Amino acid sequence: MTGTSEHPTIVWLRDDLRVADNPALRAAVDRGRPVALLYLLDEVSPGIRPLGAASRWWLHHSLAALGADIAERGGTLLLRRGAAETELPRLVDELGAGAVLWNRRYGGPQRRVDAALESTLREAGLEVQSFQANLLVEPWTVTTGEGNPFRVFTPFWRACLAKGAPRDPVEAPASIPGVGGVAGDDLEDWALLPSHPDWAGGLREAWAPGEAGAHYRLDSFVTDGLDDYAKGRDEPGTDSTSRLSPHLRFGEISPFQVWQRTQRGDLSADAEGNVGKFLSELGWREFNWNILFHFPDLHERNFRSEFDAFPWETPAPPVLQAWRQGRTGVPLVDAGMRELWQTGYMHNRARMVVASFLVKNLLVDWRVGEKWFWDTLVDADEASNPGNWQWVAGSGADAAPYFRVFNPVLQAARFDPRGDYQRRYLPELGTDAYPDPIVDVKASRAEALEAYDFVRRGD
Ligand code: FAD
Repeated sequence: MTGTSEHPTIVWLRDDLRVADNPALRAAVDRGRPVALLYLLDEVSPGIRPLGAASRWWLHHSLAALGADIAERGGTLLLRRGAAETELPRLVDELGAGAVLWNRRYGGPQRRVDAALESTLREAGLEVQSFQANLLVEPWTVTTGEGNPFRVFTPFWRACLAKGAPRDPVEAPASIPGVGGVAGDDLEDWALLPSHPDWAGGLREAWAPGEAGAHYRLDSFVTDGLDDYAKGRDEPGTDSTSRLSPHLRFGEISPFQVWQRTQRGDLSADAEGNVGKFLSELGWREFNWNILFHFPDLHERNFRSEFDAFPWETPAPPVLQAWRQGRTGVPLVDAGMRELWQTGYMHNRARMVVASFLVKNLLVDWRVGEKWFWDTLVDADEASNPGNWQWVAGSGADAAPYFRVFNPVLQAARFDPRGDYQRRYLPELGTDAYPDPIVDVKASRAEALEAYDFVRRGD
C-alpha cells in the first residue's frame, strides 16, 4: 500500500471491465504512480438509462471477476455509487490524485458527463486523458464523401475496412501498484442480484461473466464455430454463433481482441472463409453505435420520422403477457421468448422473428418490445437494442422495409427444420398444454400492411 502523497492515477472504468487491451489502465500503470481503479454505479445522472435486471446480474459477476483479477495483480478496484460529477471529484480529493484516465464512451448523456468532468478536473490542475478502446472506428472518424454520417450499413462498413487493420490489442499490465487509505462499497450491498425470487438459475448455467469467460468463448468459437458461421448463424438450433455479445457489451473483451484472434495463422481453411462474414457482424455493432452517436435518443424516437404517425395499437395486457411469457401459440416466437427468459439471451434469428411478430402481427409499438429486451437481455446494448428494433420495425437506419413481415411458420421451416430449437424451449409442444395461436398470422400481416399504407400516404 502506498501513501496518497504520490498523487495516484485514477482509472475510471465503465463499459471496459477488463485488464487486457485496456489502454487507459495500461497508460495509468505506465505513469509509474499508484493506481486506483474506480467503478461508479451511476443511476442518477440525467439521461443515463438505468440498467435492466439481467444486465445488473451480469454486472455483479463481471465486477466480482474483475476485482479478483485486479487484486491478483496487486491493484485495487474501488466501487462507489452516485452521480459521476460529484463522486469522481470526491475520490480525486480523497486520494490527492494527479490524473484521471478513462476509455471513451459514445452515448449522448455519457459524453456530456465526461466532457463536464474533463473540464472540471483540468481546471483543478489534473491531467485527464481518454482512449479509444471499445469501438474499432470512432463515430467522428468515418463519414460519407460529403462529410455526413452514414445511414446505410454496406458503405459504412466498406469505409471502415478501407481505414486498414485495427490496432493490435494492448497487453495487460503484469502488476498494478495499488493505493491505500480509501474505502469503497461492498459489491453485495448494491443488491444487483435478484433475490425474491431468484430467477437467475438459467443465467448462471448459461454464462461465465468476466474476462476469462469471454476469452474462453472466443477461443471455442474460433476453433469450433467459425468454420460454418455464415450458414450456421441463421440456425437457432445449432450453436454456431460466438455468444460474445454480453462480453462485448460490458467490455470484458474488446473488438480489437476479437478482430486479432481471427487474423492468426491457426484457422482452418473453412474458418478463414467465414471470417469476413463474422467481422461484418461486429461491423453492425459499430454501425449501431455510429447511429447512436449522431442520434442519441434512438430508444425513444423513430430514426425515420414518417413513423411518428404510425397507428400503433395498445395491446390488451394478456396479449402482451403472452408474448413476454412465450405463450402466443406460435412456436418459433414462443421458443425465442422462453430462451430469453431462461438464459437472458436469444438467438438473432429468433430476435428478428419475435420482434416482427410483436410489431407487425400484433401492431405493438417497437418501444414496448425494446424495453422488455432492455430489462431481460444480458447483452442489452444502448445502441444495438434500439437499432435492431427499429431495423425490424422499418423505422430505423438501413432498416428492413416495412412490408417485410417475417412469417414465423416459414422461418421455422427454413431455419429450424427439425424443430430442435423449438422443442428445446417448448417441452409441451404438440400436447394439449400448448396454447392456440393468439392471432391469425396471415390476417394480421395484411392488417399491418394496411397500417403501413396509412404512414406512406401520411393521412
Ligand atoms: P455473433 O453472430 O457471434 O456476432 C458477433 C458479434 O457481432 C455479436 O456478439 C455482436 O456484438 C455483434 N452483432 C451481431 N449481430 C449484430 C446485430 N444485428 N447488431 C449489432 N451487433 C451485432 N445485440 C446486442 O449486442 N445487444 C442487444 O441489445 C441486441 N438487441 C437486439 C434486438 C433485436 C430485436 C435484434 C433483432 C437483434 C439484437 N441484437 C442485439 C443483435 C444480435 O441479435 C446479437 O448481437 C447476437 O444475437 C449476439 O449473439 P452472438 O454474440 O452469438 O453473435
